[in-house]
Amino acid sequence: MPHRNPTQTDLLPPAPDGRVRVMLTLPFAGPLDYLLPPRLAAARPGDIVSVPLGRRTETGVIWDAAPSLPPEFRPPPPKEVATSRLKPVAARLDLPPLPAQLRQFVDWVAAYTLSPPGMVLAMALRANALAALPRPGTGYSPAPALPADLRLTPARQKVLDIAGNGPPLPAAELARRAGVGAAVIRGLAQAGALRAVEITPPPPFAVPDPAHCPPTLGGNQAEVATELRARVGEDSFSITLLEGVTGSGKTEIYMEAIAACLEAGKQALVLLPEIALSAQWTGRFARRFGAEPALWHSDLGARLRRVTWRAVADGTARVVVGARSALFLPFAQLGLIIVDEEHETAFKQEDGVTYHARDMAVVRARMSKAPIVLVSATPSLESLANVGAGRYRHLKLNARHGNATMPVVETLDMRADPPERGLFLSPVLTGAINDAVGRGEQAMLFLNRRGYAPLTLCRTCGHRMQCPNCTAWLVEHRARHILTCHHCGYDEPIPQTCPKCADADSLTPIGPGVERITEEARATFPDARILVMASDTLSGPAATAAAVERIARREVDLVIGTQIVAKGWHFPHLTLVGIVDADLGLGGGDLRASERTVQLLHQVAGRAGRAEAPGRVLLQSYVPDHPVMQALVSGNFSSFMEQEAEQRRPGFWPPYGRLAALIVSAETPDAAELTARALGQNAPRLDGVQVLGPAPAPLAILRGRHRHRLLLRARRNIAVQPIMREWLSRVKPERGARIDVDIDPVSFL
Ligand code: ADP
Ligand code: ZN
Repeated sequence: MPHRNPTQTDLLPPAPDGRVRVMLTLPFAGPLDYLLPPRLAAARPGDIVSVPLGRRTETGVIWDAAPSLPPEFRPPPPKEVATSRLKPVAARLDLPPLPAQLRQFVDWVAAYTLSPPGMVLAMALRANALAALPRPGTGYSPAPALPADLRLTPARQKVLDIAGNGPPLPAAELARRAGVGAAVIRGLAQAGALRAVEITPPPPFAVPDPAHCPPTLGGNQAEVATELRARVGEDSFSITLLEGVTGSGKTEIYMEAIAACLEAGKQALVLLPEIALSAQWTGRFARRFGAEPALWHSDLGARLRRVTWRAVADGTARVVVGARSALFLPFAQLGLIIVDEEHETAFKQEDGVTYHARDMAVVRARMSKAPIVLVSATPSLESLANVGAGRYRHLKLNARHGNATMPVVETLDMRADPPERGLFLSPVLTGAINDAVGRGEQAMLFLNRRGYAPLTLCRTCGHRMQCPNCTAWLVEHRARHILTCHHCGYDEPIPQTCPKCADADSLTPIGPGVERITEEARATFPDARILVMASDTLSGPAATAAAVERIARREVDLVIGTQIVAKGWHFPHLTLVGIVDADLGLGGGDLRASERTVQLLHQVAGRAGRAEAPGRVLLQSYVPDHPVMQALVSGNFSSFMEQEAEQRRPGFWPPYGRLAALIVSAETPDAAELTARALGQNAPRLDGVQVLGPAPAPLAILRGRHRHRLLLRARRNIAVQPIMREWLSRVKPERGARIDVDIDPVSFL
């Protein structure tokens, strides 16, 4: 990503002819021109307005006269429309204006990801559920002088007494306290004896206190915390990679940076890869600062969403913790961004506007002139390369906090110690679990696969149960008695007979999912108290928090889970982690398969031995000599990442080059193929740029749409956006075909 400072956003008043640009939350190429009627002459860029569009009324934002983008990112200028043909802006909404930094950010994200800016704006506004504004409530207090002709009944007298005896109250509350019906309040108001006043609710978020409960820092924690505090104090843009093994106190330390940000009177944003983590995080934050942070994610209720959006805009929400969408909140004074678990691919949004929240967070920090801290035990090669190039600072916590040591990691060669026929846990692993549980400690089994079995096969004819809409096998979920597609959500009851050869009871599950491992564990450890943690068995952050609580209270002996257990949980009594299939992520030819496997498995392994008792990790693998297994055993990630770098550098693979993918999809195979071929024929021919494909996508059919992919690879010093824009302008998709752009792709399916 180019590190250029965009010029300061234009804050000029509207043009003399009253023409303004209004960005609508619709997929247009840019803002549309409108006229500001004289009564709205005071409107400025950022104001949220309603405008006519055809026969509808749309909500939009008065946009800046010219986007503040580097030239290579600038979209083509719009066609001029004569002033006489412009329609007037209908109204200005009673909402805080969208800050200049956020408008600039919207322009930037749109230009970088080649998305319509209105769709990026929608992420900043959707938030705010404009249709139902939280109007300041109406309260009632007695008029200074009661009307002379007022008829005073005892009920009315009681209402006036209560209303006169404290702050204004809402009608319902007043009626309740006086023990009267709503009609009495209405009557008094109509008679002029009660006066309606606006009541402003108290700020919804308490102010966190940086001095509430600071930790005593150990090892090199104090040094690192001082460095981070200094970055916050500089009041300017900087990027720091905070690295440290699991349990070294990274969270503890970046909370010190948040403390510094609070002391400076500014707002902090913390991005987590998964919102399930927020419950434990919030609790920890509250213990440190004596107040809860504001939460932001897609499941927030409508009311809380509006309240939070406004509190972020007026600066009363001081710390926001959220998923990637929190990047688009209208911060009044952003002073710090933290991206926790920066290596997580969950930061990449794959549908709608395709963007990488970690990378866009860096852009947002730059525009806010604020420091950003990327946090990880296993940083991405992208971030390490930026450290190597001197673009990021690097801070490292060098050991686990206190007396905790790193767990011992061993591979378990499945060829030498295979499980019994039809089972998936090696006797070595089950023995270790028995030992740990026997000592009163906890154990965990990890398998990154939901359901019972990933494939169902007919033993008689070999038929494989496939999704009718996708190039994917159906996954058995035995507890729900269904076969389901993890890509499109299609499901069907598990058939009794093979749909192909009609043989009865011939369908057999192949391979394990976490349900099947649970079944095996229940049979193997009949006395153990087992808890399953999978994203489809835990209904949300609250359920996840409850499960985590049960583990912490030692009500569980064995935890079995999918990747949700890998996250930053702190389980002090857990000493053994068994990875059921360490090889699982290595297939598929994904550029980052090895890197990602190391990151994920190290994260899971990091759940073991976080307190006094030492931890042990067993990796079940058929390729124990694979560099990934060796890196996990030795714990030497730097040398593993150096090898990764050496493999990617010569071919200019990221981070040593840039990638942009085009995904063609269509209802018919022909439309998809013709469009893909046209893209191939029109592919740019430039020095330092190479186009791979078109080729059918690995997920050749998804939700009934036929898919082809092309991949553009460019040297790092080449901006791919103008090339892509030009390329796309030369190809018209066939009927029913669509071309999606994915800049810096993470998934290649
Ligand atoms: P990481 O984020 O690197 O995995 P954490 O910040 O979660 O590490 O720290 C691991 C555990 O050690 C947590 O329970 C945390 O509260 C504790 N811890 C770390 N540093 C300190 C400290 N200086 N004082 C007290 N507890 C600490
Ligand atoms: Zn499907």
